[in-house]
Amino acid sequence: MSKPTFAPLKLFITGPTYIRQDVKEAALLPEFGHRDAENDLRCVPIRENLRKLAGCGDDFEPILCLGSGSTAMETSVRSLVADGETILNVSVGAFGDLYYNLAASNGKKCENLKFDYGTAVDLNVLEDKLKELKPEVVSFTHNETSTGVVNDMKAVCGLVRRHGAMPLVDGVSIYGGAPLDLSDSGAAMYSTATQKSLGLPAGFGIGFVSKEAEEKAERVTNKGHHHDLTKHLDKARKNQTLTTPNTCLINQMWYQLDRIVNEEGIENRFARHAAMRGQVEKWVAGLDGFDMFAPEGYRSPTVSTVLCPEGVTVAQLKNGVKEALRGEGYLMDPGYGKLNAALEGAGRRLVFRVGHMGDITPDMLAAYLGKLEEALRKL
Ligand SMILES: *Cc1c(COP(=O)(O)O)cnc(C)c1O
Repeated sequence: MSKPTFAPLKLFITGPTYIRQDVKEAALLPEFGHRDAENDLRCVPIRENLRKLAGCGDDFEPILCLGSGSTAMETSVRSLVADGETILNVSVGAFGDLYYNLAASNGKKCENLKFDYGTAVDLNVLEDKLKELKPEVVSFTHNETSTGVVNDMKAVCGLVRRHGAMPLVDGVSIYGGAPLDLSDSGAAMYSTATQKSLGLPAGFGIGFVSKEAEEKAERVTNKGHHHDLTKHLDKARKNQTLTTPNTCLINQMWYQLDRIVNEEGIENRFARHAAMRGQVEKWVAGLDGFDMFAPEGYRSPTVSTVLCPEGVTVAQLKNGVKEALRGEGYLMDPGYGKLNAALEGAGRRLVFRVGHMGDITPDMLAAYLGKLEEALRKL
């Protein structure tokens, strides 16, 4: 068999992300039976640490769905929107649209309330829509990965609740990188994944399910099997997964969550991400013609989006800058494809993204930004 050479690129994209060597090696811990006592040795601490990182207690039940972030999100749609009910999907970018597509493709009555790329949810506009549509369920994105915008989760959930609806939150790209305070957030279910700010390979959608969501799911029919919250919760209470888990990833999760909580420290981890956001802001301020895309106060601590000078093309970003960085051992993100296509079509300035998720450090980021700057100066 001829062996290809795989390039050991450092990923500065927005998921999957860089994985530490010790976290990679944790995949080599012994395989185990997922209905055996060995499972509990891993999954009891995993569930405990997931709650610590989320800022919740037993008011939320963590579930692991084999799949990815979208699997947890689809589970929320299948299990929490009953026949005849309406879900309002609130979108500030590509991943807000994804929640809408999950609802529509599952035959749910749904409407997509879209805000301009680069902006956060406008609460006044949302309130008008809530009054008009009277949805039972509302979804929105905590951290919009395509634009680098963070929504004020508590404010959005609060408004949704004042209109009697149940908020479902997509936190795929921010969980593990910023304080969540889930118990006090107003969310009914919060979905995330392993391959972004947790610094693990992809493989599980992670759901945090409130008691209220649990009770509702019991009344919703036609949930399918993989997307049945009631079945997931039944196994989760036994510290198990509904279907056979990826045991390598469980081993890595056990290791990584223990490292985050007991070695790095949750507060330190969150502070590191906030510092990296500041680092990118400072770097952009020193680059002529470049600006931050997201408005101040709504900038993500895990992914920064940068506006290029006028005249920069998609081809330059994709073939020039991205390939120059590959030559330096990095995988660069030349901007969310659909977003840049739309911006280019409208004759507007393009964006690129800097993913600083998971276990990327300020030193790694500084080295990367240095190389990125060299490539951008050649534009
Ligand atoms: C990556 C991402 C998703 C999709 O997650 P998968 O794990 O690829 O299914 C959903 N929402 C947001 C905000 C994301 O960043």
